[in-house]
Amino acid sequence: MPTGSAPFADFSAAADAIGATTSKLAKRDLLAAYLRELPAADVAVAATFFAGRPLPGAADKLGLGWVQLSEALARASGAGERELSQAYLRHSDVGDAAVELLEQRDGEAPSTAPLAMADVDQAFRAMSEAKGSAPRTALMTELLRRAAPGEARYLGKIAARELRIGLREGLLEEAIAAAFGRPVADVRRALMLVAEPGETATLAREDRLSEAALHVGRPIRFMLATPVADAAEVVRRVGEEAWIEDKYDGIRAQLHLGPGTGGPRLFSRDLNEVSISFPEVVAAASRLDGEVVLDGELVPYREGSVLDFASLQTRLGRVNPSTELVASVPVVLITFDLLRHDGRDALDLPLRERRKVLEELALPDRTDGGLLFSHLATARGAAEVDAFFDDARDRHNEGLMVKDPESTYQPGRRGLGWLKLKRALATLDCVVVGVEWGHGKRRGVLSDYTFAVLAPDGESLLTIGKAYTGLTDAEIAEMTEYFLTTTVQDHGRYRAVTPEIVVEIAFDRIQRSARHRSGFALRFPRIVRIRTEKAPSQIDDLAAVERLFEAQASGRILLATGAAGETERIEATGSAEEG
Ligand code: AMP
Repeated sequence: MPTGSAPFADFSAAADAIGATTSKLAKRDLLAAYLRELPAADVAVAATFFAGRPLPGAADKLGLGWVQLSEALARASGAGERELSQAYLRHSDVGDAAVELLEQRDGEAPSTAPLAMADVDQAFRAMSEAKGSAPRTALMTELLRRAAPGEARYLGKIAARELRIGLREGLLEEAIAAAFGRPVADVRRALMLVAEPGETATLAREDRLSEAALHVGRPIRFMLATPVADAAEVVRRVGEEAWIEDKYDGIRAQLHLGPGTGGPRLFSRDLNEVSISFPEVVAAASRLDGEVVLDGELVPYREGSVLDFASLQTRLGRVNPSTELVASVPVVLITFDLLRHDGRDALDLPLRERRKVLEELALPDRTDGGLLFSHLATARGAAEVDAFFDDARDRHNEGLMVKDPESTYQPGRRGLGWLKLKRALATLDCVVVGVEWGHGKRRGVLSDYTFAVLAPDGESLLTIGKAYTGLTDAEIAEMTEYFLTTTVQDHGRYRAVTPEIVVEIAFDRIQRSARHRSGFALRFPRIVRIRTEKAPSQIDDLAAVERLFEAQASGRILLATGAAGETERIEATGSAEEG
């Protein structure tokens, strides 16, 4: 065991104890006591693991999917494919499946030195740096071989990034504060700024929390918005006068520029660097002076107008896009906030002042490719909010953001400082053809529904999507009982069911997609309600989907027309998982 590093077995024991109690206070105290006793060098590692992450920062991705994890488990335990998938189905959790499989492992338990925290940390680092999945799988196999079953549980859970011991939002911060006798508010603020539980724990231990600051070159979490239903709700929440911006439909980005950043750097919402994918934005930003951190949305944009979100998809994930691609889909960063300027954090300034400084920046004046300011206006009363909403839609934007000009910038928080107003395009009535066992707090219930619309023959069904949000726990429990009785094929995780339950599905957008039989997919589908009054013969058909798709492309907002013609018989076409 590396000198000075605590046994990983202590971590598993602490995690077991925390998972075994439902009392938040007891969880906090157990975790605080554990952290307090740790050698200095292990504190950051432990806090990262307790946050359900294998490593800090962007190195966070181990590159181990279910395939690699199960292969490592198979090799370490000697289990066959069938045993593996059965264990996973029984537990819906890689870690718990690992315990079962390793307990049955052939031959001797590990004879090597017990695992220390530093061993696990080093192995995870090696995995994230390894090229290709073979060496990563080998490293994970080796870790699992050395682990006792109780330790393997947490190796699996951390690698799968789901600890599931009931350490809900905020409890880790409270435990760090309690462990080292620091105010919780200081720990929260530091975590908000450095966005790293490990580093925050170390700062708390060393009484250096005040040093946490926004560093140019290191992204912080993004401020989020709370959805509102309509203009009336906007007025109810903010009063007669509302500060509104267009809500752009692109991808969120933070731009960092200053001494030592080696040029402008762009970070996406998951805090990964994406500079290399948007050379035109980087080139435009390099003409800014001084030190700045900006918040904004990357959108495809040409000749003064926003292009369809679908065109941006051709740019996403493209490293070093070709000149032709950049020319055919130019991207701009539409900036709406300023987080740091000339050596000072602006986070605690009211938005009104942040915006003022933002607008004083001399943005390079370019229509295509570059930086722009978001469209900002003041609306008085619900009717004006509605009118601005329609204008925003006319400008090909998704809706409106309503911001409190007095609000400070709250990284990672979904508060009432920012509201978002976007009407769902329309809803579709679909029939459920398949259901799946859920994960996490939805394990043990059939919570993921695959649904379909009617084919042009008016009889067969064409799948169009899968949704797992929208229903209450009680509804899900009731539907689980029901679907168990209407299963026509049991594929393990997925069950094809008799198509008789009609659900109304809301969504943000329709896309063409080869993933589902209908040839379309819905973006962000959610279940609005179960339509018990509707028969499966009355659901929407493919033509309705096509009409909505056309309406969306031409910028009109339409409501679903509802019933397709009456038909007499529906053929069961519930297929196995499509995606
Ligand atoms: P949603 O993704 O629907 O939760 O809406 C919030 C997202 O809208 C933010 O994370 C941004 O990516 C995006 N957005 C678009 N325009 C704006 C704007 N003017 N201000 C803030 N966020 C915006």
